[in-house]
Amino acid sequence: MKYTAPTKQGYFGKYGGKFVPEILIPVLEELETAYETAQNDPLFQKEYYDLLREYVGRPTKLTLAERLTDHYGKAKIYLKREDLCHTGAHKINNAIGQLLLARNMGKIRIIAETGAGQHGVATATACAKFGFECVIYMGAEDMERQKLNVERMGLLGAEVRSVESGSKTLKDATNEAIRDWVTNVENTFYIIGSVVGPHPYPMMTRNFHRVIGEETKDQLKAVEGRSADYLLACVGGGSNAIGFFYPFIEDNNVKMIGIEASGLGAETDKTAATLTIGTPGVLHGSLSYLLHDKEGQVQLAHSISAGLDYPGIGPEHAYLHDTKRIHYYGITDAEAMNAVKLISEKEGIIPAIETAHAFAYLEKLMPLTQKDQIVVVNCSGRGDKDMKTISDWFSGS
Ligand SMILES: *Cc1c(COP(=O)(O)O)cnc(C)c1O
Repeated sequence: MKYTAPTKQGYFGKYGGKFVPEILIPVLEELETAYETAQNDPLFQKEYYDLLREYVGRPTKLTLAERLTDHYGKAKIYLKREDLCHTGAHKINNAIGQLLLARNMGKIRIIAETGAGQHGVATATACAKFGFECVIYMGAEDMERQKLNVERMGLLGAEVRSVESGSKTLKDATNEAIRDWVTNVENTFYIIGSVVGPHPYPMMTRNFHRVIGEETKDQLKAVEGRSADYLLACVGGGSNAIGFFYPFIEDNNVKMIGIEASGLGAETDKTAATLTIGTPGVLHGSLSYLLHDKEGQVQLAHSISAGLDYPGIGPEHAYLHDTKRIHYYGITDAEAMNAVKLISEKEGIIPAIETAHAFAYLEKLMPLTQKDQIVVVNCSGRGDKDMKTISDWFSGS
C-alpha cells in the first residue's frame, strides 16, 4: 500500500493538525513554504547531507551484536548505531536540519525546549557551529536531574532558562518555549525536538531522521542481501523510531515495534505508556494520544528515562497504532535497567536508558523468532549521561 501521510493540512488519519494561537498560523504557513522549497533545493539537500557526513559522522554503523545473538540463540540481532552520532544520540540529525531552515528563513534567534537535555545539547551544538543565538527552556526539576547537560549547553554558549511552572518538567518547558515563540515570531525559530507539535513539525522532523532507516536498508542489503524481519525502537515523542521505521512502512514483511516507557507499570499512575493507556486529545499544537487524569487534565508522565518522560506522542505514531501497521508495547523501569546491564556486558555498549527500553523488548520477542530471521534495534543513544541514575539504581539508593 502506498503510504502518503500526512495530508496537505498535516493530518495523519485524524491525528496531527495545527492547534495553535491564531498569531502562529501565518508563521507555520511561512515555515511550510520554506520547508517545501528546501526539500526541492539540491543545494540545501547537499549542504544538509554534507554536514551529516562531515560533522555528525554519518552513515552510522550497522553492528552485528554477536554475543547478544548467542545469548538468545535465535534470530540474528543487528544494532543501528545512532549512539555514534556527534553528541551521542540521533537528535542532532534534526537539530542541524531545522537550523539550516531557520537560516534560510532569515531568523537569527533559536529557541528550543528540552527534557533530559539531549535536544538542548543538540540544538546548542548546531547553534555554536553556525554562530546563532540560542535560548533553551528546561524545567527546574529536570535541570536538577540533568546537571551535566545544563553545563554542556552553557559551555556551548546557550542560555538555559529555568522553568518553575507546573511540574517543572518537559511539558512546562514546552509551554514556555511556545510563549516565547508567540512573542518573538519575527526573528525567532523554534527548533522542536521530536515528531510532535503543529504541522509541519512532525513531518519535517521525521524527514530529517529518515536517513536512519534509509541507511539501515542499504546496509542490510549489503551485508545480508535482504531486509529485516523485525525493527525495534524506543518511543518518547517518537522521532528516532519514525526515522528508523518510515523507509520500511510499505515493506509489509517487515514487522515494526515501538517501545514506550510504562514506568512503574501501565496500570499505575507512574507511567509514560501513552499509546497503551492514553486517549486522544490536544497537546502542544496537535491532536494525538495523551495521558489524562480522572479530571481530564494532562497527567504527569513518569519514566526512569527523562527522554521518554512525556505525556504525549507524535501524531504519526497515533495513526500507525490505530491502523496496526506498527505495534506498541510498554516496558517498565526495572526491565529497562536490566537491559542496560545486559547490553553493556554482552556488547561493550552502554546504551541510554531510553534505548534500553527497546533492548528490553528482546526478552519477549526473541523466543518467538527463528535462527534465519533478522532483528534490528535502533540504538538511539549512549548512556554516559545516565551514569548517575544507573549507579544509584544498582546500588539501591
Ligand atoms: C530523546 C531521546 C529519545 C526519545 O525521543 P524520540 O523523539 O522518541 O526519539 C530516545 N533515545 C535517546 C537516546 C534520546 O536522547
